[in-house]
Amino acid sequence: MLVTLKEVLTHARAHGYAVPAFDFTEDIMARTIVETALECRSPAIMMTLQPDLETGDGRGWVFQAAAAKAAAAAVDIPVVLHMDHAGDLPTVQKALDLGYSSVMIDGSRLPFESNVQLTREVVELAHRQGVSVEAELGHVGGMDLDDSACAENVLTEPDELARFVEQTGCDALAVSIGTAHGVYRSLPDLNIARLRELNAVSQVPLVLHGGSGTPDDQIRAAVREGISKLNIYADLRIAMYRGLKTTANLHERIDPLPHDLFRPIRRELAAVVREKIHLLGANGKA
Ligand SMILES: [Zn+2]
Repeated sequence: MLVTLKEVLTHARAHGYAVPAFDFTEDIMARTIVETALECRSPAIMMTLQPDLETGDGRGWVFQAAAAKAAAAAVDIPVVLHMDHAGDLPTVQKALDLGYSSVMIDGSRLPFESNVQLTREVVELAHRQGVSVEAELGHVGGMDLDDSACAENVLTEPDELARFVEQTGCDALAVSIGTAHGVYRSLPDLNIARLRELNAVSQVPLVLHGGSGTPDDQIRAAVREGISKLNIYADLRIAMYRGLKTTANLHERIDPLPHDLFRPIRRELAAVVREKIHLLGANGKA
């Protein structure tokens, strides 16, 4: 069933585990993520990114929201449909109109006061419809969503965090402690001491972006010290490519059924989803 981010993360924070959040672009991804979460009895967070939704004159919005909502309605585990990295109010409004249960507003590149202002406006809009809001303070660097630029990390400051949450009323907060978006060229080194300080002063559950490729021991430490949601995208793309190559090497017949074509992709995707669920301790929590 479709639930809010707040509901899922409140439970996770109280019970010391984290929920994996997956960006998806196709119904095959939506179904595989939800079905694997069901098999593991884990909550699932399904995320979409604006560039992936703008395909086909914006019909990507309609298709992806419909796929996620249909998958959520078909299972008895909590599923969140979350708009990842919205940058402005019109994008948030679009997600609200399509029945998303959660949105992220990313004002992390803005000065503190402007980030507060933008986030507060989104909170007012979303909460009116019972929809959760994730914000970001500090900046998680790495590749931009459209691959055009590579930004530096700006670590989140504990004293700013407390003020930010109080002034905005957001339900969850993405913090910057040393991860980056995309595929790592060298391994990240998470600032766990900083995370501990942030979690001690935070009234809301904390979120870690750039989860793909981060070593497992660092992820476990981050969950132990207060991360309740981990964003994953690159690891899914890598898995799908692996599955695609397996498909390309199948020589049994020249006219394979779609089911046979997609099976290796599903299998690779499911393996990553299962692995992340267990890494974060989310299995058996739904
Ligand atoms: Zn992100």
